[in-house]
Amino acid sequence: MAEQNGKIIPLAVPNLTGNERKYLNECIDTTFISSVGEFVTRLERMTAEETGARYAAATSAGTTALHMALLACGVKENEIVIIPSFTFIATANAVSHCYAIPWCIDIDFSSWTMSSSALRRALSEETIQKGAFCIHRKSGKRIAAILPVYTFGNIPDMDQICEIASERNIPVIADAAAAIGSLYKGRMLGGLADVTTISFNGNKTITAGGGGMVVSNNQEKIKFIHHISSTARVSTDYDHDMIGYNYRMTNVQAAIGCAQLERVNEFVKRKREIRDCYNKQFEHIEGIELFPSPEWGESACWFSGLVLNKIKYSSVKSICEQLKEKGIEARPFWKPVHMQKPYRGCFQSDLAVTEQVWDRVLTLPCSTGITNEELTYVCSELKKIIV
Ligand SMILES: *Cc1c(COP(=O)(O)O)cnc(C)c1O
Repeated sequence: MAEQNGKIIPLAVPNLTGNERKYLNECIDTTFISSVGEFVTRLERMTAEETGARYAAATSAGTTALHMALLACGVKENEIVIIPSFTFIATANAVSHCYAIPWCIDIDFSSWTMSSSALRRALSEETIQKGAFCIHRKSGKRIAAILPVYTFGNIPDMDQICEIASERNIPVIADAAAAIGSLYKGRMLGGLADVTTISFNGNKTITAGGGGMVVSNNQEKIKFIHHISSTARVSTDYDHDMIGYNYRMTNVQAAIGCAQLERVNEFVKRKREIRDCYNKQFEHIEGIELFPSPEWGESACWFSGLVLNKIKYSSVKSICEQLKEKGIEARPFWKPVHMQKPYRGCFQSDLAVTEQVWDRVLTLPCSTGITNEELTYVCSELKKIIV
């Protein structure tokens, strides 16, 4: 730590040097701090624009955005939603919050996102089509949705996934939690799936402290989400027509979100520079692989890091401890859903790639505010440990 004068280089912290303070003061000055206010509407508009979708509904979190998206797509109790096992547990939890059941499938080496060939294989081998419904053969349950995840900005082969889904009449919901700014074949991410969700959690590139968003070109679905996420109120007279949720984003969150989203191009550019820096420093080192980057897309690089090919999970953790002594915060990445206590024994297909990848991932400091000097320091300290 002496090298760092006791300062820690964090893994990923918010960059709040724009209009955040100004907009928060506006909330206080106008007393609009709750779930009605101009910043909520403004953030919905900005997010729709930034993702190329026509409509948007703000929510209290990325998880609740997913929950609302699943309900809007008609996912019901006891039905199945296909997800990649390699994701943050919130993806599976949102499925469970609908009393539906996740079916975990594998990822591609080339993107760490849902493998379209694994999806095709799982559906053709393990389901049958009964009229408009795709039925899981063993359980007799309906496949209600396919839910790919845009892993730190990597977008899966969505043309393939959507084609497979539409052949079977299954809606596609994309968990784009940390992917704002990513492109797929030059297209913005908001229109790739039927419905797409985003998170504004504290560690994402664009944060609102907490919060989420559902974007879609389908106006009916977004209207439905606005309705059920705000207690399904039909008038101001305590009149409600459904069992709704209190999942609205507050104006305070949206104020921060607006200030953040104004800087999305600058933030994503810096995130990509950080990725390029780690790639350049480590690309020729034996036993180390870079984070994958699919040829059809351009990632917004939420997280950067390395794949340590020849080592065990315990060693990733020990490297993190050694880096910590040098004032550097590094961490492993997602533990797959099917290995998590509440999901052991969930529906799953072959997960060979997931099991090979997950415990070799080392995520490295990648805040947009990191300096080039700090990046150089991280690389040189890491080389001392692993080379
Ligand atoms: C962050 C994240 C979420 C959850 O978002 P919250 O806003 O924390 O609820 C869901 N899925 C993925 C892939 C994430 O990275």
